[in-house]
Amino acid sequence: TKQQCVILVTGANKGIGFHVVKKLLNESSSNNTVILLGSRDLKRGQDAFEQLGSPSNVHILQLDMSSIESINQAINEIKEKYGGQLDIVINNAGILLKDFTVDAARKTFAVNYYSIKLLNEQLLSMIRKNGRIINVSSQLGPIALHESSSILQDKYTSSTLTIKELDQLVEDFIAAIETNTLKDLGYHNKTNSLIYSISKAALNALTQIEAREWSTSKNLLIVSVSPGFCATDMTQNASNARSPEIGADSILHAVNTSQNELQNGTFYRDGTQLSLI
Ligand code: NDP
Repeated sequence: TKQQCVILVTGANKGIGFHVVKKLLNESSSNNTVILLGSRDLKRGQDAFEQLGSPSNVHILQLDMSSIESINQAINEIKEKYGGQLDIVINNAGILLKDFTVDAARKTFAVNYYSIKLLNEQLLSMIRKNGRIINVSSQLGPIALHESSSILQDKYTSSTLTIKELDQLVEDFIAAIETNTLKDLGYHNKTNSLIYSISKAALNALTQIEAREWSTSKNLLIVSVSPGFCATDMTQNASNARSPEIGADSILHAVNTSQNELQNGTFYRDGTQLSLI
């Protein structure tokens, strides 16, 4: 029998993540794909599972990306129930908060940056040869960097940036919210989405570092992907936005395109490489 392909999608109980799972299911003609449907709330995960028709190759994985305990528990579950073997990790879970406070920044970076960093680090040894890590990011990241100082632009996109330096950039950004010194640091004046945007700029930078440090040993593909502006709860189902199905296609492109047609560490939307600034 052919080896099964195991795919984890975080934040998959609704929105774009749900449609990623649905499309993966429709694609897998055989029973060769196992999909772990990540949901922080078990009930919401179960509802989504039933909405998919309770397929036998979809398993709900409780995973709250704001909790280190939950991340560790989910990792143990992957080890115990799925033999600790994964092929594709799709970091889709993300939040956009409306407040412009240090507390909102802490919460946003915890889910959109720090937990993805931790999860990927923890899963790395379980990812099989030729596996993929797809970090779901946003074009608001590059847009926010575009409006920032050239020094910041250089730092976030530097080909020698380390995780430690990136963490420091993030911590300096959060601290500057408290002291009202974002402008001095080179960030554009605050807009409602600046915290979210910088969390995605940091995620793009993290993707670059992960690709540089990890891709060669097991021939992994590590990229970030924008789903494009989609009508979901995050955007209050904006009427001028594309459907989450189309957003999911942008992610599926990074799942299905052959490795040599994609460039490790870079950022894509709808199969087109985008600038990081
Ligand atoms: P939704 O708000 O519709 O869905 C977000 C998903 O993430 C939900 O399943 C939600 O679970 C989950 N989630 C939130 N917080 C956590 C957490 N702490 N732990 C685990 N899961 C969590 O958003 P979208 O589907 O629109 O967004 C999906 C991804 O796409 C995000 O990363 C977003 O930043 C990105 N994106 C979206 C765009 C858009 O226009 N919609 C544009 C660019 C990027 P729950 O139901 O429990 O809240």
